[in-house]
Amino acid sequence: VVETRGLVKTFGSVRACAGIDLTVRRGETVALLGPSGSGKSTLLRHLNGLTRPDSGSVSVLGVDVVSARGTALRALRRRVGVVFQQFNLVGRLTVMENVLSGALGRVRGPRYGVVTWPRAVRSEAFEHLDRVGLADRAYQRAGSLSGGQQQRVAIARALLQRPELVLADEPVASLDPETAASVMDLLVRVCREDGLTMVCTLHQIELALQWTGRVVGLRLGEVKLDEPTDLLDAVRLRGLYLSDPVTVP
Ligand code: ATP
Ligand code: MG
Repeated sequence: VVETRGLVKTFGSVRACAGIDLTVRRGETVALLGPSGSGKSTLLRHLNGLTRPDSGSVSVLGVDVVSARGTALRALRRRVGVVFQQFNLVGRLTVMENVLSGALGRVRGPRYGVVTWPRAVRSEAFEHLDRVGLADRAYQRAGSLSGGQQQRVAIARALLQRPELVLADEPVASLDPETAASVMDLLVRVCREDGLTMVCTLHQIELALQWTGRVVGLRLGEVKLDEPTDLLDAVRLRGLYLSDPVTVP
């Protein structure tokens, strides 16, 4: 589903990605871990063409992202659901309207309000809201929800896109530990239920170990570790954050 080869991206004198080979197979849930500045977000942004590499190849869902432009890139982005740290909802619109915006591009949206969305799309949106536990909040302003609830709405919106791949950059970093765990649980669970591939960046080692299937550890733009979570423990992962080079046995 995802394949990068020799991905290099430099900002001035900073090598954000220093030759990354990453392969993600269909249905995997992968966490990108590593200290601040290790290149996690930069790597993720290459996967839907928000950033172009200096060199190397990036293939996502069979599309060569490096050469894709215009229509081809928009078509790819419709197949990739995105979840952000700051939720990125439109606070003055209702929860339902925010979820429905996930169908834009797949279905022609209305000019005014919810009522003109096709009935099938509305009921699909409602089903996703129900899955994330917010069916009773559908007609509330999105801005009035808590952070954890807003992230659940953002997940429902991404699902309505009917994506094949979900990318999430620090999806729970703005949430308190308990809410973060429940949102991670939800995100991974819906992706697994729907057979979606998921790649997220995380700061918390424990969340990665508990909820994702595989950890890719980055340091200074290089992959230092890449293993299924059941073969990993927190002690080894902390090695990523120390100043010595990480030794991978
Ligand atoms: P964090 O955990 O803090 O989110 P990260 O692992 O996501 O860190 P990146 O955001 O990918 O790290 O950044 C990697 C390096 O590239 C950093 O040194 C950063 O300053 C640099 N960088 C990233 N984006 C840009 C940009 N648009 N312009 C200049 N430098 C950038
Ligand atoms: Mg980041």
